[in-house]
Amino acid sequence: MKYADRVRRVVPSAIRDLLRHGADPRIISFGGGYPDPALFPMAELRAVYDELLAGNPLSLQYCPSDGLPELREHVAKRLAADGIDRGADDVLIIQGAQQGLDLAGKLVLNPGDTVVTENPTFLGALIAFNPFEPDYAPVRTDESGMDTDDLARVLAGSPRARLLYTVPEFQNPTGVTMSLERRRRLIELANEYDLLVVEDTPYRALRYDGEHLPTLKSLDTEGRVVHLGSFSKILAPGMRLGWAVADGDVLEKLGLLKLAADTQCSTLNMAAVSLYLDRYDIDAHIVTMRDAYRHKRDLMLGILDDAFPGTVRHTTPQGGLFTWLTFPSGFDTVAFMRDVALPEARVAYVPGTTFFPTEPEHNHARLNFSGLPDDRINDGLTRLAAHLR
Ligand code: PMP
Repeated sequence: MKYADRVRRVVPSAIRDLLRHGADPRIISFGGGYPDPALFPMAELRAVYDELLAGNPLSLQYCPSDGLPELREHVAKRLAADGIDRGADDVLIIQGAQQGLDLAGKLVLNPGDTVVTENPTFLGALIAFNPFEPDYAPVRTDESGMDTDDLARVLAGSPRARLLYTVPEFQNPTGVTMSLERRRRLIELANEYDLLVVEDTPYRALRYDGEHLPTLKSLDTEGRVVHLGSFSKILAPGMRLGWAVADGDVLEKLGLLKLAADTQCSTLNMAAVSLYLDRYDIDAHIVTMRDAYRHKRDLMLGILDDAFPGTVRHTTPQGGLFTWLTFPSGFDTVAFMRDVALPEARVAYVPGTTFFPTEPEHNHARLNFSGLPDDRINDGLTRLAAHLR
């Protein structure tokens, strides 16, 4: 088959084969990024789906491509409570935050344009942007998120920079959060360099401690920020629902691209989430999830501190689902996983190389703490620590 040029960039991840082993039940895998399915509100969701299917045929009908009006209203209210002062008309319902990445890329990227990202960054964003054939300009990232001094340096050397992608809270893969000072500086630089900023916030509600910080969207002075959020981590990812908030023409164009891509999200799922939000207290549900994940985070970080060699550093995420390990330079986490972690410790993680847009660093690993029962976290990390020592 003669494929379009863009398909050259549509390739499986180099470590996909290695990650397949994570599905083997004898392996304890910290490689996933899934919420704990035991926390899905099954009875409540069943009740709302029952109610809709018992008497509301319109919940199976087509609906406006921007989303079911009552769900847009709910999202706008939740965003207003979070400092983003917008109405339902400013909200586009999308198939999870992931669709927002595709639509934003389609909106502004020509082949050879530059996407600026944290280094490392979310692999799913690279997968979404790659078909638009961009170059990447990664920015130094530390415990306070994207380093805006380095961002200024990178932008000065990237004449084709068009899109800046960031996960400001509890970033995937590192778990770090961008400081308020850096958020302000990022907006200044985006204005100066005429960038579209994609603010990706799927973990924002999952804060376990520390201070709640304003979104980039609430600091946006020129309508350059596309704010993406998601029901995946606060309700259930399989419903595939999220939202985009943007200004004027940007939002309208994103909506037209969404219409072209898939007409609309599932009416039934949108109606179910909207009814769930009418009938139940999602904030109480989020508190339950926070308590459960905070406990798992503390368990994981405690074992990392107590049992791992002192030369292995970890981030201290204030929320989200991941911590990020840094081994001494020269240590190769792909080789260690293939030769020791999988066959001997019977433990999997995601080697860090896969999250670097340009030059992979080999001495990192991403660990997920949300998806495993306590005893598996304990056993897996203890086994890994023994082999590392
Ligand atoms: N952005 C980030 C940073 C993520 O980690 C994920 C999912 N793991 C997504 C976006 C996509 O989430 P969804 O499409 O399910 O909302």
